[in-house]
Amino acid sequence: MIDLDEFRAKARDWLSTMAGEFGREARRGLSPEQDLALGRRYMAAKYEAGFGGINMPVEFGGRGLSGLHKIVFETEEMEIGFPTVYFGISLGMPIPIIMKFCEDKAWVRERVIAALRGEEIWCQLFSEPAAGSDLAGLRMKAEQDGNGWKLNGQKLWTSHAHLADYGIIVARSDPNVPKHKGLTYFWVDMHAQGVEAKPFELLDHEVVCNEVFFDDVKLTDGQRIGPVGGGFGVALATLMIERYVAGDADGFGPTIPFFVDFARDVELNGRPAIEDGRIRSAIARNYALRNGLRSIRDRAFLMMEAGMEPGPEGSLSKLASVRSRQKLSELAIDLRGAAGLAYDPDAGSKEDWVSSWLSVPTGRIAGGADEMLLNTIAERILGLPQDHRPDKGVPFNQIPA
Ligand SMILES: Cc1cc2nc3c(=O)[nH]c(=O)nc-3n(C[C@H](O)[C@H](O)[C@H](O)COP(=O)(O)OP(=O)(O)OC[C@H]3O[C@@H](n4cnc5c(N)ncnc54)[C@H](O)[C@@H]3O)c2cc1C
Repeated sequence: MIDLDEFRAKARDWLSTMAGEFGREARRGLSPEQDLALGRRYMAAKYEAGFGGINMPVEFGGRGLSGLHKIVFETEEMEIGFPTVYFGISLGMPIPIIMKFCEDKAWVRERVIAALRGEEIWCQLFSEPAAGSDLAGLRMKAEQDGNGWKLNGQKLWTSHAHLADYGIIVARSDPNVPKHKGLTYFWVDMHAQGVEAKPFELLDHEVVCNEVFFDDVKLTDGQRIGPVGGGFGVALATLMIERYVAGDADGFGPTIPFFVDFARDVELNGRPAIEDGRIRSAIARNYALRNGLRSIRDRAFLMMEAGMEPGPEGSLSKLASVRSRQKLSELAIDLRGAAGLAYDPDAGSKEDWVSSWLSVPTGRIAGGADEMLLNTIAERILGLPQDHRPDKGVPFNQIPA
């Protein structure tokens, strides 16, 4: 397997040749449609250059390298601000899940390659109006219909559903058993009759999330992933991947070196802010924290490669990194005084403090709210008693709604 340093050098070379056509500056002023089209072209170029699916198995069209190779590439890639956001969830959770659980391997290979090339997008349809943190409380109905299934109900918050070709979904197939036991997991065609995605805007004006309605949507039994009633187990496997794959020690915001450069430029009491002890201590604290998170993530990838399950410490990553981003963004805005609130609608959250600060609250909710991550840490790392669960063992249709 190619050595990590050699791989990093190759990745840097290739990425620098792409920056002009696909990087942050090339994206300025593009409409969402143009940006997505640019993103699809970038993904195809990346695949052709051998940087698509870095740690995915070769038999599915990936490169078969390690998770650390993937991290090395993505760290370099993120610095340049390529339009990859549309493909993150798709390649992060649904694609690994269909590779692991779907039996028709030829079909899976086609989907993986199309997703890696940016030709197809997948979404993750888990949360509902009354089921987010309590995923097992979901109400989307899956009823047997001849040899197949019929879906009815509503999902909420689904990222990129309005752009997606396929989705992974969890639905209630049996309301007569306790909530975790009556769920079944499927893949769905987002262009099927009866599926309607309605996008809505977030605080930072980004149109990412959707309400998605299912009205008598027909599925074949071949679209089932895992056993009937075994959907919660597959959902947990998905969330476990999400805790690690969807992590970034910078919380998807600006890096520490970016803050250091900023603190050199901005003044505090007539001196460069970097000379102030409080600013230096904030930098040191956040630097140590983020490097600790990187070590936990790297260890988890090595464990996964060795065939082991990574532990619940993945919950620390998002909790700590997003808070760190929020604190540094606030500090940067404060340091600039009134000018700190000037908003540039074209700027991204990795290179602009206001964009970072405006979109950071969603980071504390999406992919597991802070309190739920704290619960996991309390119960599974610290061994504290379980949260109060009054509906444990009660058939779903007898839980008061
Ligand atoms: C930008 C964005 C993108 C998203 N993308 C997707 C997506 O692609 N697919 C998808 O399925 N979902 C997605 N979500 C949904 C996300 O997973 C949920 O919003 C999240 O799990 C919280 O669920 P909820 O919104 O229903 O809040 P609730 O679960 O109703 O929580 C409300 C508050 O109560 C707290 N709380 C709840 N239960 C407990 C408890 N037991 N102990 C202590 N406190 C508790 C929570 O921490 C939170 O502060 C996205 C959300 C956002 C903001």
